Order: sequence, then structure tokens, then C-alpha cells
Amino acid sequence: MSAKLTLVGAGPGDPDLITVKAVKALRAADVVLYDALLDPVLLEYCRPEAEKIYVGKRPGESHSQDAINFLIIEKALAGLHVVRLKGGDPFVFGRGQEELDVARRYGIETEYVPGVSSALAGPGSVGIPLTARGTNESFWVVTGTKSDGSLAKDLCLALCSSATIVVLMGMSKLDEIADLCRKMGRAEVPAAIVQNATTADERWAAGTAAELPRLALEHKLSNPAVIILGEVVRYASANDGGTWNEVLREVDLHS
Ligand code: SAH
Repeated sequence: MSAKLTLVGAGPGDPDLITVKAVKALRAADVVLYDALLDPVLLEYCRPEAEKIYVGKRPGESHSQDAINFLIIEKALAGLHVVRLKGGDPFVFGRGQEELDVARRYGIETEYVPGVSSALAGPGSVGIPLTARGTNESFWVVTGTKSDGSLAKDLCLALCSSATIVVLMGMSKLDEIADLCRKMGRAEVPAAIVQNATTADERWAAGTAAELPRLALEHKLSNPAVIILGEVVRYASANDGGTWNEVLREVDLHS
């Protein structure tokens, strides 16, 4: 037995989007600490004797980051291989670095297994490319809510560019995002919300930035969801449960 922490990305939602390397890590785990939003089917890759501990942080649940860090150290220092299974990619707004830092401080060997982030798969799942030739030069992945609760200033910077902007953890900030877009003269920029991306419960709607709060209300869209701002939203394809805003439908992309 060797003390080890493997930080593993579980992918965005569809359990088939986990990587082969992640499955190998789960098979090798003595202990798996797993987050909310993960499909429980992923735990079936673990050996029956592996200990599976839920450490989700949904509102009202008590697992603090300190408690998770403590569990990692306690289990790994007992000589166990700890797999920390996180939604999407552990290094995209997943506090993965903090957990690696803690383990290293205690001399625990660490490994990172990337995952498909909802920041990439969310837009793609409804046919929104993050980049399209001639449309944008970059994409930004921005948090909607900083740790102090305020709207990220980077959103402002990104709105000054041609970038596709993907906002994570932004559903409680839709009014502020729409207001900011108005102030920056970007009220009409195409925008979409994709909830439960890549899962059987995926739902989405598209419109303009100014319409974001109304879209969420009318289509009952809530967390977990990604918000996408940018001209690339015009490429979104209508799929199951999808809605396609009249304003955007009238735009002929190929004219
Ligand atoms: N590390 C994760 C992100 C963690 S932050 C990743 O790489 O995907 C949590 C945020 O991710 C949620 O608030 C939401 O904005 C987004 N998210 C996670 N899973 C999602 C899903 N299936 N569909 C839409 N958004 C999702």
C-alpha cells in the first residue's frame, strides 16, 4: 500500500465522458471521495471493498473544504490510495490545486487525471462551438461568483473583446450579467443557458444577453448550468428540449 492522492476529472455529466485513465484510477482506489453532480454509475468502476465517501457541497450540506482536506490526509497517511473524483476537470473552478497543495505538504504522492470540463462540453453539447473561424479569437471561462460574492471583473474585460465567454456558477447573477452587457453596449450579443449539459436532463435556451433573466425564468433553467455569451451562439442547433429564440433564428449564418 502506498500513500497517494489522485485528483480525477469525472467529466461534465454523461458518465460515458469519463476518460480511460480516470476509470483505471477508480479501479485502483482504496478510497474515493466524490462530489455532488456526479453520476453514481461511475462508482461502479471501484472495487467492491473500496470505501466511497460523499463529500458534496450542495447548499445545506456540511462538508467544508477543510473537512475534505483532512479526510484526504487522514486516509492517504494511513497508506491508502485516495481518488478525489470531481465534476468536469479538477483544475477548472474545482479547487483541485488546494487539495494537491495540502497532500504535498504532508509528503503524499499526487497525480492529476484531466476531465472534460462543462466549460467546453456544455456549449458543444447544444452545437455551440467555442471558436469559429472568423468569428472570435479566443474563449474565456469566467466564474459568475467570486468567493466574496461579487461579479468577476474579468467578465468586463472579456466583453471588450471578440471572445466567446462561458460563465460557470453564474445562475444567481443573471440580472447583473445582463445589466453589465447593457452598460458595455453588448445587450444584443447572442447568449445561451445550458442546464445539465450532456445528461439525459439537458435543457437549454438561447436569446440575447439582455434576455438572460427572462430566458431562465420562462424555460425554468437553473443550476447546474453554463451561460454562453458570444457570436458563436448563433450556431446552436435545436435539439431535444432546446428552444431557439426568434431573433437568432432569423439570422442567416451563411449569407
Ligand atoms: N470543474 C467543473 C466546474 C466546477 S464549478 C468543470 O470543469 O466542469 C461548478 C459549475 O460548473 C456549475 O455551477 C455550472 O456552472 C457548471 N457545470 C457543471 N456541470 C454542469 C453541467 N452538466 N451542465 C451545465 N453546467 C455545469
